[in-house]
Amino acid sequence: MTRIIQPGGTEMRRIIILGIIAFGLAWAGSAQAFCWWNCNSAKTKYPIVLAHGAAGFDELFGVVEYRYGIPSALRSKGATVFVTQVSQFNSTEVRGEQLLAQVETIVAITGSSKVNLIGHSHGGLDVRYVASVRPDLVASVTTVGTPHQGADLADFLSENFEDGSFSQAVLDFFAESLGTVIGLLSGSSNPQDGLAALESLSSAGVAAFNAAHPEALPASACGEGPASVNGVRYFSWSGTGVLTNVFDLSDPALGLTSLFYSESNDGLVGRCSSHLGDVIRDDYFQNHLDEVNQLFGLVSIFTSNPKTLYKNHASRLKRLGL
Ligand code: CA
Repeated sequence: MTRIIQPGGTEMRRIIILGIIAFGLAWAGSAQAFCWWNCNSAKTKYPIVLAHGAAGFDELFGVVEYRYGIPSALRSKGATVFVTQVSQFNSTEVRGEQLLAQVETIVAITGSSKVNLIGHSHGGLDVRYVASVRPDLVASVTTVGTPHQGADLADFLSENFEDGSFSQAVLDFFAESLGTVIGLLSGSSNPQDGLAALESLSSAGVAAFNAAHPEALPASACGEGPASVNGVRYFSWSGTGVLTNVFDLSDPALGLTSLFYSESNDGLVGRCSSHLGDVIRDDYFQNHLDEVNQLFGLVSIFTSNPKTLYKNHASRLKRLGL
């Protein structure tokens, strides 16, 4: 009797196991887009537009998105999300004009009169540019880890760029990490390409930009800026964590770059330099790449997840009628 039942039992277990595997795969594939509850919490009135920084993640990591899992996390909560793409190696003004053209397209496609702009790193300067020249198209500007007063590392690298390459001082300092750090900054193996981006992020470069586009900058050192300018709401947040996840290979490189800063920083941007408009928080335990949930979601497990911060912010915009 046992012999008769046993094959059937084995077959049944196989079917059940295959079923569980199939369900698991299907669930994993749809998990990021699936929502169990509160599914319109990020459904803002205006579309959310995510603008990237100087790093060329597409080139470094193939098809991996710049903000790992964040667009889908927002969409799962009802948000309409667009991810823009601008030139990696150019001034903020040129990048800003490229972004503006894409915002005009998004407005035309969606029929929405405005957008909510969120920029990370250099992308935060780009979104400021768009809001400065076309405030009528912008409901809100949010910058994440953006050096509004310049980045000390950019100053150092710009000053040590000689005869088409970085000086021995830079090479000595970074040694084996040079490729990683410069690559993350510039998205290119050619340092000369990265120089244009570096200069835009230097103190002098940002000061010139700020003089032309001063909206929502703090009036005092490390203060907050006005919450609203020309009808545009302004927000910022940033991190001051550096070594946040022992499995993330980018952490040691950010640990090196953080040494250039006199103030607490996220590895590339100082805490006070990140301030713009309404400062939501400036000391999350996140480094510069954690702020976009990189690498591959490897962030601290002891603090707010980056995806949660983005979803919470979308809810904030929604509550404000944006
Ligand atoms: Ca990380």
